[in-house]
Amino acid sequence: MVREGLPGTPYGEGVKIIKPPMASPIKSSEGMLVCNPDDPTEWGIFVNEDSSPERRRFTIAHELGHFVLHRAKRRTFNCDKAAVHLSLESAGVIEREADEFASNLLMPGDVLRDRITSQDVDLYLLSGLAKTFGVSFEALCIRFIKFTEKRAILLHWDNGFLKYEWRSRSAVLSNTRIRRLSDPAEPLRDTVAADESITQEWNGIDMSAAVWCVGEQPYMKLQEFKHSYGGRDRVLTLLILEDAEPRRWDNSWQDQESFDSFDQFTSSGQMPIRK
Ligand SMILES: [Zn+2]
Repeated sequence: MVREGLPGTPYGEGVKIIKPPMASPIKSSEGMLVCNPDDPTEWGIFVNEDSSPERRRFTIAHELGHFVLHRAKRRTFNCDKAAVHLSLESAGVIEREADEFASNLLMPGDVLRDRITSQDVDLYLLSGLAKTFGVSFEALCIRFIKFTEKRAILLHWDNGFLKYEWRSRSAVLSNTRIRRLSDPAEPLRDTVAADESITQEWNGIDMSAAVWCVGEQPYMKLQEFKHSYGGRDRVLTLLILEDAEPRRWDNSWQDQESFDSFDQFTSSGQMPIRK
């Protein structure tokens, strides 16, 4: 196991032992990493006992991230749920680094990328991958958003209001955004998210991307997926959109083309004439 092996490696230099995880004495804390004040070679991890086994596993991996990356800076790390599990932009830099460490440890990027590009993505696939990696469904969905090449948006609703949003790289680059009619946002009309008679939609429902997103052509498609947790007060929505075409304001593809012909011109030995 990684925890037991670390002290014997260069990553654990100067440390004799990381003690087995114990129940956290602080209720608001999801995980803690602490150094024994009387013995700097001894470190310990505390984890929220009330969390699911998958979450506890991720939390321990997160604290090991602090151990490897940050222990020279501090002797105590106290991480709450938002810091550990949600990989939010708003969390501090070291929290995101520890999350990244945990994600890489538990959900190797090359394996994940291979699985999500070799077949159609739906919630059955993502749930199966979460089981394979021993992580929570939400952690896997967040990881999927990081690795997918598609335009994808993950939304986390809490009691009918949007709490968190994650967008894939290509969604950010193509300026793909959901329409917000209120603050905090509520599910939009005619979406699966707004339909209370549907608690699970794991196959995905096709609809026009314009139903959800700003500035989409009506013929662009998206697939909407939904997962509700037990009490229905927590809902995850996953949107996977068709690839975007270049938008009017985005002329980079034209620049690329003229750059190529410019290159050809110069490589043919002729002096370029610029107008
Ligand atoms: Zn942390």
